[in-house]
Amino acid sequence: MPKLFKTLSDASFQKNTAVSRSCLEAAPRTSLSPSKNCEIPSRHARARRQLAKLKADLSPAELASEARASVRSAPTHAADVFFTDGSVDTITGTAAATVHHDEFAALYRLPDNSSPLQIELLAILRALQLALPRDINVTIHTDSLGAIQALQTVSLKDNVNLITSVLATAKNIHDSGRHVHLNWVSSHTGIPGNEATDLAAKKALSLPQVTAPIPPSISQIKASVRRFSHEQAVTCLRPWITNPTSSAHWYNTTRTNTTPFPRNIGRKTRNALHRVRIGYKCLAEIKGTLPLACCHCDAATVSPLNHYVMDCPSTSDMLARGHAAAKDVIANTSHDALARLVSGHAPSTTSLS
Ligand SMILES: [Zn+2]
Repeated sequence: MPKLFKTLSDASFQKNTAVSRSCLEAAPRTSLSPSKNCEIPSRHARARRQLAKLKADLSPAELASEARASVRSAPTHAADVFFTDGSVDTITGTAAATVHHDEFAALYRLPDNSSPLQIELLAILRALQLALPRDINVTIHTDSLGAIQALQTVSLKDNVNLITSVLATAKNIHDSGRHVHLNWVSSHTGIPGNEATDLAAKKALSLPQVTAPIPPSISQIKASVRRFSHEQAVTCLRPWITNPTSSAHWYNTTRTNTTPFPRNIGRKTRNALHRVRIGYKCLAEIKGTLPLACCHCDAATVSPLNHYVMDCPSTSDMLARGHAAAKDVIANTSHDALARLVSGHAPSTTSLS
């Protein structure tokens, strides 16, 4: 047994994953070019070939040439050679993965909306599982640099099940005295195996049902919770928002007023300003002791705030009247003007504020 596995039996999960990573020969740090921003790994750790340029700086012809060199440099003698790839229908969210081998092709349909990383990891996992009983070395070509980097992450934060399954399967193969070589090749560079896998992955999108169920990632669960919470909140609040007499309905309009909110105003003015913004009823309205005499013009009204905004002569000069509803007047009067209004002529004094 290799020395690196001596502590495996009593190792922690973290040690297990770290040890298992050593089963894969495409080590991340050794396989990256010296450039800090380089996105291109070398062919594999043993060869330690480095690209002279960043991927973005390579012409299509140079990229194809590098891809061919990458495939040629990967171990093929006495090795099962697999190409893996994934495909996503961005409209329907349908996801599929494929493993291509000279003797066969395996197609998998994943749960809808699986991430590209999950799909690529699943393809690598299935390749390893197919290779496990075949008793020879394994070379896997993938065009997913993200999957390779995820497999070399020291501290796993997401897709833990998939990543540890890949590493555990690689370790099982390695424990039987075989090598596992994970090789990155650029996609769409004319490599026959890669192109065939790409086509097969698209074909796998039409599989009628999920054949490779995977657990959702933590980020997907969080997104689902956020989406569900938002939907529930909207469902709960909709009656208040659509109720024409509610503060929520009023504020839904006045919140469109994006004029700067005045600073350095007193608490009393601020409270009165917020009150007209949210359409807060005065105490007389809440208690049902209407009509109420306006504190500014003495007019009797059964809707004090509406009178204050739409009809009261003492406030007419400071409001952008001419809109059909009081909330629209508030939405179209600047917050500065509203602050000046309520500081000089506050809404009904028989209020809760
Ligand atoms: Zn009045």
